[in-house]
Amino acid sequence: MTPQTASMDGSLVGVYRPAGPVFVAGSGSWLEDDGGRQYLDFTSGLGVAALGHDSAVVAGAVRRALDAGLVHTSNLYRTRPAPALAEWLTEHSFADAVFFSNSGAEANEAALKFARRWGRKGGAAKTEIVALRSSFHGRTFGALSATDRAAFRTPFEPLLPGVRIVDPAEPGALESAITAERTAAVIVEPIQGEGGVRPLPEGLAERLNALCHAAAALLIVDEVQVGLGRTGELWAYTAAGLHPDIMTLAKPLAGGLPMGATLVTRQVAESIEPGDHGSTFGGGPLVATAALAVCQTIATLPFLAGVRERGRLVDARLAALAGRREVREVRGVGLMRGIELVGVPAGDVVGRALGRGLLVCAAGPDVVRLLPPLNIDIDDLEHGLELLEASL
Ligand SMILES: *Cc1c(COP(=O)(O)O)cnc(C)c1O
Repeated sequence: MTPQTASMDGSLVGVYRPAGPVFVAGSGSWLEDDGGRQYLDFTSGLGVAALGHDSAVVAGAVRRALDAGLVHTSNLYRTRPAPALAEWLTEHSFADAVFFSNSGAEANEAALKFARRWGRKGGAAKTEIVALRSSFHGRTFGALSATDRAAFRTPFEPLLPGVRIVDPAEPGALESAITAERTAAVIVEPIQGEGGVRPLPEGLAERLNALCHAAAALLIVDEVQVGLGRTGELWAYTAAGLHPDIMTLAKPLAGGLPMGATLVTRQVAESIEPGDHGSTFGGGPLVATAALAVCQTIATLPFLAGVRERGRLVDARLAALAGRREVREVRGVGLMRGIELVGVPAGDVVGRALGRGLLVCAAGPDVVRLLPPLNIDIDDLEHGLELLEASL
């Protein structure tokens, strides 16, 4: 069998189907292809380039790290940026300690391993993980085991044992899955991203908090996509009403450079010993310097107010779309939005938008997803929403 490959990229393993243009430059919310055509980017590289494509904040931080000549030393040695970033993250969240890695899947792998380690304390056998219907937590084996998408899972089975995927709408299902004897942790996205931009159903946060509390199970909140300002709040768990013991971050964290983080409470941190986990690249000085600059930029009140203002503008435009025949529902908050379609595959709209110079992505077969840069110009945002309307 020949893998499906784009002509120019024949030497890449065919796991992706990249769309036509070849991008050679970026500026703010715009990308430029090799023919000089400009595209308005409502994906920000899947929520990664949260400050846009040529952020002076990211470039300045990277330049400082390069000028210091310190890109990587490994975790055999101490440097300053990673502890400074960890201190910032713990001061601005529920957490007391942080582990750094290089992606969302890795951040979740660490969360699952830390949960198991914690669940084995004092000879206990709390090893099970509970994940939710239509979840996405990543493509490595542990994270994939907690991911509810048959197409991603089935070719790679058997997956990690002891992970249960539960439909919280099924009466009693969560209650019987989460037990004091066996459950180490429950993992949840405050708004499911790849699963179709689905906020938590009413009352589920309180149920999860209560069930985890009653069973002494950890609550892992996966904020890889929604964290760091995407919703207009610094973290999504606060507005969702979730009480995490562990939180995972990645996509926007280092402004485009690869970085993941697993934030934990003191009681989780205390169950981890030297040697339990590790990452050669994790928390290197270059990425940590960039990440601290990104975090400090996003966490300011005017910046977050700016995201909420942009979110209100999107609300108004999407409310108008919601009445259209081919739109079943519009979901999401801030600058994370999903438009569920009826009778039109999301891929068709993504393709038509591309033809008009607008980049949007799908979240499953029926949902068009918008993840524009958090600091997108208001004019660009309005222009993009017009292009989107025309593409529907
Ligand atoms: C993207 C994503 C991941 C996986 O991140 P990678 O960096 O691709 O490994 C995990 N969880 C959520 C919620 C995501 O959106």
